[in-house]
Amino acid sequence: MTLDPAFQRCEVLIVGGGPGGSACAWHLVRAGVDVVVFDRATFPRDKVCAGWITPQIVASLDFDLDDYRRRHLLQPIRGFRTGVIGNAPRETHFGKIVSYAIRRCEFDTYLLRRSGARLELGQPLQSLERTTDGWCANGRILARMLIGAGGHFCPVARRLNDALPDEATYIIAQEAEFEMTESQRRGCQVEPEIPEVYFCRDLQGYGWCVRKGNYLNVGLGHETETRLAVHMEPFLKFLKESGRINFDLPARLRGHAYRLQSGPRPRLVDEAVLLIGDAAGLAAPRSGEGIRPAIESGLLAAETILAVSPIFSRRNLMSYVERLQERFHLATEPQDKPGRFYRWVGRQLLSNSWFTRDVVLRRWFLNAAHPPLRCEPPTTQIYTEQHA
Ligand SMILES: Cc1cc2nc3c(=O)[nH]c(=O)nc-3n(C[C@H](O)[C@H](O)[C@H](O)COP(=O)(O)OP(=O)(O)OC[C@H]3O[C@@H](n4cnc5c(N)ncnc54)[C@H](O)[C@@H]3O)c2cc1C
Repeated sequence: MTLDPAFQRCEVLIVGGGPGGSACAWHLVRAGVDVVVFDRATFPRDKVCAGWITPQIVASLDFDLDDYRRRHLLQPIRGFRTGVIGNAPRETHFGKIVSYAIRRCEFDTYLLRRSGARLELGQPLQSLERTTDGWCANGRILARMLIGAGGHFCPVARRLNDALPDEATYIIAQEAEFEMTESQRRGCQVEPEIPEVYFCRDLQGYGWCVRKGNYLNVGLGHETETRLAVHMEPFLKFLKESGRINFDLPARLRGHAYRLQSGPRPRLVDEAVLLIGDAAGLAAPRSGEGIRPAIESGLLAAETILAVSPIFSRRNLMSYVERLQERFHLATEPQDKPGRFYRWVGRQLLSNSWFTRDVVLRRWFLNAAHPPLRCEPPTTQIYTEQHA
């Protein structure tokens, strides 16, 4: 192995500075661990996403909303307008803030800077070699423990898993986010505090329209359809015909895929390495929410590392998989696809106010019965040695 003369050492190297990587780094740095976060992008960078977050992560991350909103867009959400594409919608108001919308270019940068980790940005991971006591990335960063937080196409996840089983459940999604002009603002009936969610008629996906201040995010995700235009075109037509927006999208739709919690699991740990967030395929099966599972898995990974340090054997790290299992009740069976009858029943239920409020919104989307993951700040400094 040839080492770059500018090589550096760290205790933990995190590949990927999205919400998962940042949350993990934040908790480790609080315990005095020397962490490097490595990302191919320079920040601020955008991420294809609707930018909707549930409030549980505010508690998990000790997130100071007032500090955040001073310089960034933080859109409170108090209700939803929901329905099936083509049918009459229903509005549900909770009378309090139940969620927020953020812009990923701001949110991810804020979390990454706040983590306190050393940042190595703007270069992709090109090589990863096993050393006697850890890993060497790009021939110049030596780490004792490696975390794959690089999202759906994470290079560390690919190293652990050659291929995923065909039955793994994916979401294919597209969105466009843009700042509205004065005339677009007038032609947009979507209210900032009431984002809109419309299910595809086969109930295998949904489209959304989220207004964040002067920004509008419009998109659609689907579980089985790879040709998204089949659903996107009727959805955009529906938005216009029902008067929600009176203009064509001025920005190009950008697409991305990610894996849901259900279905066969990839390998999540090995000697001195583990995966978090989208790299581990942890998005919620019903809503597709991925930010909270990325943050929670990052925190669980950090707690595991602190607990098993300094022996990062596969056997010790398996406790991380057990904690994920306990937290997310991961199912190894793929989700059943609803048959014609159940699709018909589902469409009827989506016009029912109790089902919409308590099942679709409170249980599936807001995950309201699931309290925030709380990781106590470490009271003792685990690592005092700082590497040169
Ligand atoms: C259209 C769409 C809409 C969505 N809307 C929502 C939503 O509203 N709410 C929600 O909770 N979830 C949503 N999700 C899911 C959510 O975006 C992801 O689950 C979440 O971003 C996962 O976070 P992460 O930290 O695991 O990975 P990411 O946020 O993907 O971060 C991974 C990081 O790794 C870096 N990286 C990748 N490859 C390399 C490499 N080779 N070398 C170095 N660095 C690398 C990337 O640059 C990136 O910064 C949506 C997804 C899509 C596609």
